[in-house]
Amino acid sequence: MKAKSFQRVSSLEEAYKLMKESPRNKIVAGGLWLKKGNAEADILIDLSLLGLDKIEDKKDYVEVGAMVSQRQFEQSKLVPEMAREAVKSIMGPAFRNVATIGGSVFGKFGFSDVITGLLGYKVELVFYPEATLSLLDYVKKPGFYDGILTHIRIYKEDLKGFFKKVGITALDYPIINVAVTFGKEYRIVVGSRPLVASRCEKTEAYLNDGGKDFEKVAQMAIEELKFGDSISTKADYKKQLALTYVRRGLEEVSK
Ligand SMILES: Cc1cc2nc3c(=O)[nH]c(=O)nc-3n(C[C@H](O)[C@H](O)[C@H](O)COP(=O)(O)OP(=O)(O)OC[C@H]3O[C@@H](n4cnc5c(N)ncnc54)[C@H](O)[C@@H]3O)c2cc1C
Repeated sequence: MKAKSFQRVSSLEEAYKLMKESPRNKIVAGGLWLKKGNAEADILIDLSLLGLDKIEDKKDYVEVGAMVSQRQFEQSKLVPEMAREAVKSIMGPAFRNVATIGGSVFGKFGFSDVITGLLGYKVELVFYPEATLSLLDYVKKPGFYDGILTHIRIYKEDLKGFFKKVGITALDYPIINVAVTFGKEYRIVVGSRPLVASRCEKTEAYLNDGGKDFEKVAQMAIEELKFGDSISTKADYKKQLALTYVRRGLEEVSK
């Protein structure tokens, strides 16, 4: 990664102003993805003095600052268990001490274990200047939001969750990842297809109407989604894995 300068801002206003001055001024969070992509920037805008590194209980939801590290997230008892499990599946603790939740969500990576885990919950993204967007809408829209992600709100729900990442090795990117939750309703999420994670909303509607044949439901789920080849895996293999783990997830959360 090459940058001409690095600026630790003292307000969101200052960060946004710099960001809008040039497309070559970039927000830096953990900086791991920027570094891997060999990004070039005029100014790297660092948000680390803005108090965005807290996880707080806000009665109806848990509010996670964008600069919270993956490690803080996975260790917090405020965060629902399955979302923590999804984050724990990424690389090793040293990596997760640096990578942030904000960078992981904003980046909308196709392979993201973080997004797959979070889509199992009702999640809102808070941006500066003032805007709130559901995570579901954010992943459906092409491109990135033109603002600074400040917080992620995870609404409190009484639900059971299942998460599975399949990778060639424990430290690898996922070939596929699956999350299933069940509380008042079922949610089914499949990511790394290699497209960014999606909820299987038509299949969920069928299930929530009383469909109980999980083999058939899992088949419906994979038919609802698009799969493609990635460097390591063919689409058909991803489909087979998704079929197996969606069914297994439904069985687990329904016990
Ligand atoms: C080698 C490697 C292996 C990985 N393996 C996995 C894996 O198996 N599973 C997985 O889920 N993830 C994986 N990741 C992704 C990783 O978990 C993080 O999601 C990623 O590094 C981004 O987090 P970061 O804090 O490093 O963000 P950065 O690299 O700092 O930023 C990422 C992007 O988001 C923008 N950005 C950051 N924060 C904000 C903000 N608050 N508002 C607006 N824009 C912002 C930046 O400008 C940049 O474009 C891997 C990454 C690497 C480098």
